[in-house]
Amino acid sequence: MSIAADIQALGPITCLEPWEAKFWARVQKSGPNDCWLWQGCTDTHGYGMVRLAYRAHRSHRIAYLLTHGDFWGILLHSCDTPLCCNPSHLTPGTHADNVRDRDSKGRHVALRGSAHGCALLTEEQVSELRTLFSKGVSRQELASRFGIAHSHTCNIINRRCWRHVK
Ligand SMILES: [Zn+2]
Repeated sequence: MSIAADIQALGPITCLEPWEAKFWARVQKSGPNDCWLWQGCTDTHGYGMVRLAYRAHRSHRIAYLLTHGDFWGILLHSCDTPLCCNPSHLTPGTHADNVRDRDSKGRHVALRGSAHGCALLTEEQVSELRTLFSKGVSRQELASRFGIAHSHTCNIINRRCWRHVK
């Protein structure tokens, strides 16, 4: 069963609005180019999970559908972050694309972090940021020093992103 069918089962789009607001309330929207991390439940593959018409769907798919109003098979995360719900980090693709994409990224490793076009920091800066935090520099101070959003600073410190950097 497709998501579109589930959405249809919920009734006209006006009925969806409160539900839609509830969905976005669980997405941590940072800057337009940052990863918007899903704050709700996750599945065993690390993807955000959302229940819709009694069925579980991946949160990034719902985010894409709510933004673009249409749904295409497989969605690729340009940022390689399964929890990310930023529609601008999602591109429709085929299963073959997905495999090719994964291969070209060297099994999810090569394009992580600064190699990803949207990254605001380099690996060195991320590890410097974490070191400074461990030495007692505040999140606020770090955010302004590195020119990134406060929420993004928290994500780096909590290792919600840049997990591969020490
Ligand atoms: Zn992202």
